[in-house]
Amino acid sequence: MKRRRPAAARSLPGGCLDWRDSAHWSSREQPCRYCGSDTHLRDPKRKPAHKACAEQAIAQQSADMADAYRKDTL
Ligand SMILES: [Zn+2]
Repeated sequence: MKRRRPAAARSLPGGCLDWRDSAHWSSREQPCRYCGSDTHLRDPKRKPAHKACAEQAIAQQSADMADAYRKDTL
């Protein structure tokens, strides 16, 4: 399983997640809800997820929403 390392976040522009908070850390590893690899990280809903995976999912959601919006307005 390929592990992706998120680039070091220096600044957090809108849309980026700040997961430095301990609320996003669990001592128990659980499979990421997106890629299935074990992770200590938790998403804002306390579901196991890598930060990179969650951010990608959010980006995908935004893209889908933008897509739906464009279809609606056409
Ligand atoms: Zn993942």
